[in-house]
Amino acid sequence: MEDCLFCKILKGEIPADKVYENENVIGFNDIAPQAPTHILFIHKNHTSNFNDITNNDPEGLVQVCEAIAEHTEKSGLKDAGYRVVSNIGETSGQSVFHTHFHILSAPRLGRFGS
Ligand code: AMP
Ligand code: ZN
Repeated sequence: MEDCLFCKILKGEIPADKVYENENVIGFNDIAPQAPTHILFIHKNHTSNFNDITNNDPEGLVQVCEAIAEHTEKSGLKDAGYRVVSNIGETSGQSVFHTHFHILSAPRLGRFGS
């Protein structure tokens, strides 16, 4: 996907502060963090959102979930507590149309809402 920002990160055309990588998945710090810890996890294969990856690459979805579980266990985020968010569609706040999962952690996260 030529115009996809996260595909450009995957190709190394745009730098990213990577905190996790395996054969299929990367995790990198969000450029505009909304919490003390704010990481994005993406699959190396392009899909556009949660529904797209679920319907068209369910194995990839599992691989992203496994990577999140592995990283959060190793880094202590699981014990600290964290939130997983995936925005679907512009009205939800999705601005990059490559499926991604926000990992947010703070001593006390605010409730989500409107
Ligand atoms: P969303 O708005 O749910 O589509 O999430 C996209 C996220 O990507 C936002 O939280 C942005 O801050 C983040 N973002 C945009 N450009 C970059 C970048 N070059 N490196 C890291 N994060 C980025
Ligand atoms: Zn992409």
